[in-house]
Amino acid sequence: MTAPNPLLADWNTPHGLPPFSAVNPEHFRPAFDTALAAHKAEVEAVASSKEPPTFANTIETLERGGGLLDKVSSLFFVLAGAHTSDAIEAVERDISPVLARHSNEFYLNGPLFRRIDDLYVRRGTLGLTPEQARVLDRYHIRFVRAGAALGKAAQERLAAINERLATLGTQFGQNVLADEKSYALILEEGDLAGLPEFAKSAAKAAAEERGYKGKYAITLARSSVESFLQFSSRRDLREKIFAAWLARGEGGGTTDNRAVVAETVKLRAERAALLGFKSFADYRLDDQMAKTPANARKLLDEVWGRARARAGREKDELQKLVAAEGGNFALAQWDWRYYAEKLRKARYDLDEASVKPYLALDNMIAAAFETATRLFGLTFKPATLPLYHPDARAWEVKDKDGKDVALFIGDYFSRASKHSGAWMTSLRDQEKLRGNIRPVILNVCNFTKPAPGEPALLSFDDARTLFHEFGHALHGMLSDVTYPLLAGTAVPSDFVELPSQLYEHWLETPEILKKYARHYKTAEPMPEALLDKLLKTRTFNQGFATVEYTACALVDLDFHSLEKPEALDVTALEKQALDRIHMPAEIAMRHRIPHFQHLFSGGGYAAAYYSYMWSEVLDADAFAAFKEAGDHFDPATARRLRDYIYSAGNLRDPEEAYKAFRGRLPAVDALLQKRGLADAMPAGDA
Ligand SMILES: [Zn+2]
Repeated sequence: MTAPNPLLADWNTPHGLPPFSAVNPEHFRPAFDTALAAHKAEVEAVASSKEPPTFANTIETLERGGGLLDKVSSLFFVLAGAHTSDAIEAVERDISPVLARHSNEFYLNGPLFRRIDDLYVRRGTLGLTPEQARVLDRYHIRFVRAGAALGKAAQERLAAINERLATLGTQFGQNVLADEKSYALILEEGDLAGLPEFAKSAAKAAAEERGYKGKYAITLARSSVESFLQFSSRRDLREKIFAAWLARGEGGGTTDNRAVVAETVKLRAERAALLGFKSFADYRLDDQMAKTPANARKLLDEVWGRARARAGREKDELQKLVAAEGGNFALAQWDWRYYAEKLRKARYDLDEASVKPYLALDNMIAAAFETATRLFGLTFKPATLPLYHPDARAWEVKDKDGKDVALFIGDYFSRASKHSGAWMTSLRDQEKLRGNIRPVILNVCNFTKPAPGEPALLSFDDARTLFHEFGHALHGMLSDVTYPLLAGTAVPSDFVELPSQLYEHWLETPEILKKYARHYKTAEPMPEALLDKLLKTRTFNQGFATVEYTACALVDLDFHSLEKPEALDVTALEKQALDRIHMPAEIAMRHRIPHFQHLFSGGGYAAAYYSYMWSEVLDADAFAAFKEAGDHFDPATARRLRDYIYSAGNLRDPEEAYKAFRGRLPAVDALLQKRGLADAMPAGDA
């Protein structure tokens, strides 16, 4: 007799949490198989029904289904990200293609689509509520965008393209990784002039890892290269590492990504054409807030001219520094970070190490909570619950009437079993269809874990990350919709960063920062002068940062706007795109095409790298609403923010939702101000 699988049992636990300690990796595959079969049977029952389709017997039945699959996969992917193991990774490799096939079969199920399409055609006569109409609309769009409305031959071609694209995406990422692994600039003690202690010890550890004991290695990881470029006074070595960094994926041989890019771009264009779009960018943006490549370009162009003008002025200042040091050369791409760092020091004299003691993790958590209390009336009470790792902590979240809002889990420290980065995820999403279900939301971060007995101290960037992820968490926790499809963060990718990026603004308000940025030993508030410097460095070097980002977003759109990309010369096309926008010679793209993983390793941001700036327009403009009201916590503005953004999931088209909150469409001015570009006049194109 084998013991019953805890994943398939009812979870009679506080908050309906998974019985973490009873679950082992070997429970997942059989649980997935059972859950997939159950979902398949539910879907088949709808698809093969003899009843004429109604909203209730089709859409609502689909929305009620898949419960076991949600439960099993939510837990699995939380663990795969935050607390993985060889056994979990093996299940992940095993189950990923199975899940992909399951999703393909769902969206290409002909009889099912015919029922949805029939409802969609009759949607005006069905007596639907606005939310039901939105759900039907979203179902229909998803099926159509996946190819459900195409003929058999086109669907088969689509499936083949999807499969090939998945392979190319994996290959692209592995090639970049291989190039990064195979290169290191091995240095002697005497080559380290200018490097601070932390960079030296990182280089030493990297050398040791590669078998060069007693030497120093600069690798092609961004943190390694960037700190070398920032601090090394050896111009010759900066040039060398910079060239290697830029050449990733373009070195010839088996890891060269240019053929991978050419084929990917071609297949994406073909897929878009099969689905009736002019280009891949048109296809991709059709279901985003931006709607068209022209709209995304309009924003990028507006920013580009100013950023280029501002970067030009920054360059002049850096060139003066070169001259003042007796340098007789024109500033090059490998010089920018070095002289910018010098200028930053001279101008602001800000030392990260003096900031950290004022940013204790627990204080910053309290600061993020108080912001939510002041804006939305939420309260947070620590809860002792068995979780998946002792470092994870839970809070019960209630509204001001004492009603349950959510369970929030914060898992802040890095460890070997956790993927890098920071993210929000969930063990359960909000809905009201299968009962009044409140969500279980997680924030997972990678802050350095302190030694036992020491406090956890954050950098200002870390604190900003904490607020960012907590903004996503609120989007999940405050969700107030009926249908699961629309809950929380299920919004377009150029809208989903609004709640998170917006939340970062409150960290910098005096009401929050002055109250919570206190020395961990003395509880003294951060000295005014330090606070001042910290906030002032924000717009420093923003011309450079905006240029290196925006160039990437523009080149991305160029590649994915091609209608018939045959036999693409990737290097030539990239150069042509940069020439067209008059890319400053002293600045390189943040990610060159042959190693641009956002676009080609999976494709999450293909034709959508603009999204970050699109969301930034929204968050800057949204925060300006509070400034205009004369109160960072203005109750009426906060109420609208909650109703139309944080609790609204995908109830409305994003543009409509934003207009309902702000009374108008977003304007770019607040973003320009935030980046310090408002006074920069666009340069002529000469
Ligand atoms: Zn985010």
